[in-house]
Amino acid sequence: MERKKMLIGGEWVEAKSGEWSDNINPHNGEVICQVPKAGPEDVDLAVDKAYEAYYETWSKVHPAERARLLFKLADAIEEMTPELARMESLDMGKPLTQSTGEIPATADTFRYFAGLADKIEGEVLVTPHETFGYTVREPFGVVASITPWNFPILILSIKGAPALAAGNCIIFKPASSSPSTALEVGRLAQEVGFPPGVVQVITGAGGAMGSRLAGSPKVGKVTFTGSTEVGRKIIEASANNIAKVTLELGGKTANVVFPDADMDVAVAAAARTIFLNCGQICTSASRLLVHESIKDEFVGRLVKIAEGIKVGDPFDPATKVGPISSKQQYETVLSYIEQGKAENARLLTGGERPKDPALSRGFYVMPTIFDGVCCDMKIAQEEIFGPVLSVLTFKDDDEAVEIANATEYGLAAAMFTTNLSRAHKVAARMEAGIVWINCTNLFGAWMPYGGYKTSGLGFEAGIEGLKEFTRLKTVLIDTSDKPNTWAYD
Ligand code: NAP
Repeated sequence: MERKKMLIGGEWVEAKSGEWSDNINPHNGEVICQVPKAGPEDVDLAVDKAYEAYYETWSKVHPAERARLLFKLADAIEEMTPELARMESLDMGKPLTQSTGEIPATADTFRYFAGLADKIEGEVLVTPHETFGYTVREPFGVVASITPWNFPILILSIKGAPALAAGNCIIFKPASSSPSTALEVGRLAQEVGFPPGVVQVITGAGGAMGSRLAGSPKVGKVTFTGSTEVGRKIIEASANNIAKVTLELGGKTANVVFPDADMDVAVAAAARTIFLNCGQICTSASRLLVHESIKDEFVGRLVKIAEGIKVGDPFDPATKVGPISSKQQYETVLSYIEQGKAENARLLTGGERPKDPALSRGFYVMPTIFDGVCCDMKIAQEEIFGPVLSVLTFKDDDEAVEIANATEYGLAAAMFTTNLSRAHKVAARMEAGIVWINCTNLFGAWMPYGGYKTSGLGFEAGIEGLKEFTRLKTVLIDTSDKPNTWAYD
């Protein structure tokens, strides 16, 4: 059994407790490797090492040098595309074709923020007479990054690249079920020359040490992506240090299809958004709101697509949908399918395991579509995070907006229409941090996003995402050479 160590202070180490955690292959339930099960004492060590590295080394490195290291890391990641993609598919069951596309996207994220590292500037303020004032954007020092398993390396890059570009040290805590690529990024960061302690990776169960990390007095910033439930715990933990927090949380995206939509484009997108990555995307449009006049035709075409999707081994090039990433998540998805049936939603397709005996040990669920879903059903309200689509109908734009906004989440919304003024009006009324028009799930390092309502706090990606890893300092100088007087003296 391969045992991979974690990276603390430039050393590859085991957990102080000597405990290990199994990394399970969701395709067949077998153990791929073990990683250290870090506990509070490992967290404290990593935080101390990051703190030391920040004050002794990293804070003295010029931004242009940070940029150079980040560009080198991007190249190193891209050169390892086949290996990293394979790790990602083994760990979390993503079809290899998709993992292979995500590695260059990860490298590009590092490049995007590398290019910004030496362009983080403050402003000269318009100040009262005989004073001079300016702002500077400074790093926090130590950043803790806690990430989920659905896009392990890509989400890591959306946090790690801007954090490092802004001059912070970072401790990555990947999800227990997909730790491999984070460890590899740690190794590559060392190899390209990041000083020890600047990039660290700790592994193990978040429930056992995540709060310690988020609540550490030396951690100035916590960047978290995951469920809303754990997001609340991060806020509680960070209250200890009043650490600044960015939270990218759950979603229940509505995809609204108006009767004037281009049907071919809209049907293909509706299928892709919910079945890509086995529906394990925070912005997967798990609620399809389709106008009542086109519902039957639209859903008929959608069912045909769903039934034609190849579900199978992530390493089969024909596979479009792999297994659910973990046993726990697989059981959650199945329980929601039972819930949908119990609520009398009409199961049109899927709702079961594939029949192929070669997949019998994996965590597979067939692409599933429920029709006749009402807004108050659990499957229309709660995040399922699997290949399960709920179809609802609406009669006019007002009702579409009302249903789209009727969840606790506000991560994203999508719509398909060829009417430009309708698109703008409806976009303005959507309570969501992202609104896609005639597309879904289009992302890039250039695109800032952040959830409304319980979907998040703060921003990720783009210039706004970079600023999240800086704190603003104001410097004010009295140039009068006279004793201070105040405006109210
Ligand atoms: P999760 O259960 O919330 O876990 C996310 C991370 O938090 C994992 O690394 C986990 O570690 C760790 N964690 C668990 N309990 C913790 C605690 N008490 N304190 C600190 N950390 C803790 O989420 P998930 O199941 O991995 O991912 C799915 C969720 O992520 C969905 O809700 C999805 O919508 C959301 N997501 C959001 C976005 C976005 O941009 N808004 C993007 C992707 C995913 P372990 O793995 O060791 O438990």
